[in-house]
Amino acid sequence: MEIACLDLEGVLVPEIWIAFAEKTGIESLRATTRDIPDYDVLMKQRLRILDEHGLTLNDIQEVIATLKPLEGAVEFVNWLRERFQVVILSDTFYEFSQPLMRQLGFPTLLCHKLVTDDKGRVVDYQLRQKDPKRQSVLALKTLYYRVIAAGDSYNDTTMLAEANAGILFHAPDNVIEQFPQFPAVHTFDDLKKEFIKASNRPLTL
Ligand SMILES: [Mg+2]
Repeated sequence: MEIACLDLEGVLVPEIWIAFAEKTGIESLRATTRDIPDYDVLMKQRLRILDEHGLTLNDIQEVIATLKPLEGAVEFVNWLRERFQVVILSDTFYEFSQPLMRQLGFPTLLCHKLVTDDKGRVVDYQLRQKDPKRQSVLALKTLYYRVIAAGDSYNDTTMLAEANAGILFHAPDNVIEQFPQFPAVHTFDDLKKEFIKASNRPLTL
């Protein structure tokens, strides 16, 4: 039995925080872990900025609903789901990803969650577990699934390494150079071919 694990942001949908910053014009929301390496400090800053702009979860979801999956992503997910069980492993939050997941047909998603108060203000967040993508692959392997995983960035590399086969998709050059053990592709057509190659079944395009 085989299962496909996919990263979400940068693979199927745009980087949600960056796209949200562009839509709302709130420049300070563009900061990422590259600017502020401590994830907790970064998230607390993001939540404070949302609050300063008086944005409730509802407002945020309305903005995110105007975002679209990447070109070709919907077709790719449908293609993959006809050939594999598919699980999306992401470091996003259910509440933020909801409008984009709807456009993808709500495939299974394992990610984190936000905490809101009774007025809909986002007051905190809860990470599901440590090293969540790798832990998910490990768990699927204990169910005797053969795992093929694809992702675009550093936070995917432990997942790719733990999987039976790992694929880099849309990865920046520095990640590709640092992880030459993974095939690196940039189009959905090539990604389909990599999944076919990695499968132990005779699949076709
Ligand atoms: Mg990503």
